[in-house]
Amino acid sequence: MSVALITGATRGIGKQIALTLSKAGFDIAINYRKENDELKSLKEEIEANNVKCLLVQGDVSNFDDCERFVKETVDELGSIDVLVNNAGITKDMLLMRMKKEDFEQVINTNLVGTFNVTKNAITYMMKAHKGNIVNISSVVGISGNAGQTNYSASKAGIIGFTKSLAKEVASRNIRVNAVAPGFIETNMTDVLKEEVKAEIAKNIPLKRMGNAKDVANAVKFLVSEDSSYITGQVLQVDGGMLM
Ligand code: NDP
Repeated sequence: MSVALITGATRGIGKQIALTLSKAGFDIAINYRKENDELKSLKEEIEANNVKCLLVQGDVSNFDDCERFVKETVDELGSIDVLVNNAGITKDMLLMRMKKEDFEQVINTNLVGTFNVTKNAITYMMKAHKGNIVNISSVVGISGNAGQTNYSASKAGIIGFTKSLAKEVASRNIRVNAVAPGFIETNMTDVLKEEVKAEIAKNIPLKRMGNAKDVANAVKFLVSEDSSYITGQVLQVDGGMLM
């Protein structure tokens, strides 16, 4: 059985990726930062698909945490075949008013976090001569967005990281790709007012915000054999918002 580790998978896009990959037959390791009531039911929902589900606590911005929970995953489930770097935060503010800590925290979670988990997981993948990594970037990492210098920089960094690593490890049969979602309905976008969401949808060629399943299905494709000749790519899941 192949094993998929998904970071920040307690809710939103990460949770949907975990559910979708469990339906595709992967044993699942769910990384979470904070304990929450829904974790137990999520584990049961995943196990109902006749796969194993392991919950691994850890803050992706902490290298030692990542080393520990990656090891826990391999010890308990036997390998890491798929890594999805999904954990991410926003702290939006115009640069003029942005605090140094808000810049650092977003970079440390989104970009350094991606490094921390990947650096630990890749060791096991290199030994196994196989692996598949999907990093969750964002369309604003390509286009930029006012009020998101910290977030856009982290997501653009993830794209550079993805392409460089794809070149480094392709000969070891490890593929590395990124998914760049547009506006997806989750807690992260719940902060937007309904009028703002309607205005955003109006400007999307497919005329709706995306949902977590739209992103999870793209990840499922990238970790499947159907994409075996694809590496170093950024797949936009944005309803045509950015072309
Ligand atoms: P949510 O805010 O709904 O979920 C984020 C998840 O990341 C939570 O499970 C959260 O856990 C976890 N997380 C945050 N910080 C850490 C940390 N330091 N260590 C471990 N886990 C952490 O976000 P979404 O589901 O919307 O976003 C998922 C990914 O998709 C992010 O990378 C985001 O940037 C990206 N994305 C989202 C878009 C959208 O429109 N929603 C658009 C483009 C990209 P906890 O509960 O502990 O905070």
